[in-house]
Amino acid sequence: MAAQPLDDRIPSRTAIIATLGPATIRQGVLQQVIEAGCRIFRLNFSHGELDDHRQNIKDVRSLEKQLGIPLAIMCDLPGPKIRVVEVAGDGIQVEAGEEVIFNREEKGPCEVPDEIGVSPVLGCTWQGLVDCVKPGDRVLINDGAVRLLATESTDGRLHCRVTSGGLITSHKGVNLPDSTLDIEVPTPRDCELVSWAMQNDVDLVAMSFVRSPVEIESIRTIMKQGLAQSGHERPLPIIAKIEVPPAVAAAEEIIAAADGVMVARGDLGVEMDLAQVPVIQKRLLSIARSLDRPCIVATQMLQSMVESPVPTRAEASDVANAIFDGADAVMLSGETAIGDYPVLAVETMQRIAHESEEWMDSSCGVCNDLDGSVSGHAVDDTHALVAGIHSTVKAVHAKCIVVFSEWGTWSRLISRGIDSVPIVAYTPRQSVVRQMLLCRGVIPERMEIVPDDAILSRDAQHRLADVGWLKDGDAIIVVLGRPLEEECHSARITVHRFGDGIHQA
Ligand code: PGA
Ligand code: MN
Repeated sequence: MAAQPLDDRIPSRTAIIATLGPATIRQGVLQQVIEAGCRIFRLNFSHGELDDHRQNIKDVRSLEKQLGIPLAIMCDLPGPKIRVVEVAGDGIQVEAGEEVIFNREEKGPCEVPDEIGVSPVLGCTWQGLVDCVKPGDRVLINDGAVRLLATESTDGRLHCRVTSGGLITSHKGVNLPDSTLDIEVPTPRDCELVSWAMQNDVDLVAMSFVRSPVEIESIRTIMKQGLAQSGHERPLPIIAKIEVPPAVAAAEEIIAAADGVMVARGDLGVEMDLAQVPVIQKRLLSIARSLDRPCIVATQMLQSMVESPVPTRAEASDVANAIFDGADAVMLSGETAIGDYPVLAVETMQRIAHESEEWMDSSCGVCNDLDGSVSGHAVDDTHALVAGIHSTVKAVHAKCIVVFSEWGTWSRLISRGIDSVPIVAYTPRQSVVRQMLLCRGVIPERMEIVPDDAILSRDAQHRLADVGWLKDGDAIIVVLGRPLEEECHSARITVHRFGDGIHQA
């Protein structure tokens, strides 16, 4: 097994996700982003061509091999994101009180009217806008930077009044928080992309604009149908992006149906009152934790670093607070995809994560909030066993938990309730190694054979001794999650003491 020090492999317990884009495609940037601590990469299918994403996957995989570090790729399905079509020139400047018209047939490029008093006519990517938006509904463009109010709908044209002016440029997003939309999720394009993802070495799939658990199931069904061609044994984990009011309302059911959740604050902050977003974030983090699902906090975490080498104090606090609240991962979007400082953004996030985690370790009060919270529903056999593992860890003051499980389920469950003890997780499947990168505190490793606990214990002790985490007499807990075929029904749990001889074996 590779003898790379753990510290180099997992720089912080909280995972950092970087969105790939023009800024990371530049020569050498991707490697520096990995060296700065990023292990999970998001391909945002709202932007870029399939060929760009294919190239990104190739680049990540070749660095994974070259550096000997597992790296995960998350494919982010765009969902029914409505966008303005192309707008001519530098865009159309609109002022409060003016009129803007959406025309069902307008394909763009939309022109700035050359006569005073003539309203600009826009087109959008969804023809149903003109029918679904009713007078009095808000139409928000570019994350709410430009705000309109629908006044009248006639003959395939929706008339709107500008309530907050600004510049409308090509392909900007349109949010319709007051309207009932008859758009199906997943969209036909989502369905195509998920099959593509299954065949192109992707590890995780994020689903945008989910509104109900049924939609998660539809994507999973497509994955199941494509298993044979894809070479996968199971569907890929699905991350539900919570970004519209119906999803917030059905959060428990959606998160239970999904394999993980993303607090997608970009659209959430436009679709809902911005003042509610912090509370929703805390709520989703807590639901995710109680349902054993990993949770990603996303969007604008270090937004000012798109243009500046330093974040604002508020952004640094935002990252830290997400970590204090138990986020498994913190995500960078524009900061790494199109920003001027992609490497610095990851480095900065990594430093904030490191400081935050250190503080949590030394401050019992906060730490306790995460430790043990898993046992909130320790009613079934599996959770009873997990609670037993947690209490053993505490009783012997274990320095590390070593877990072997085929599908990573045991490591994920154990990681829900313990924050200050690293979990070295072995599995024979490379895809599971990568997927486990999303679980906070889990250090995934590949191991071909199903070992006995003595081998696991010895290997883990070698590693931990190498980085100075263990001293004589320290305890480690070894968990063999068996029978692996049936997953969580039994586990063998042993306590080992680090001592002379073992680490030289
Ligand atoms: P997006 O999703 O970047 O794909 O819009 C995240 C968000 O809305 O916050
Ligand atoms: Mn979004």
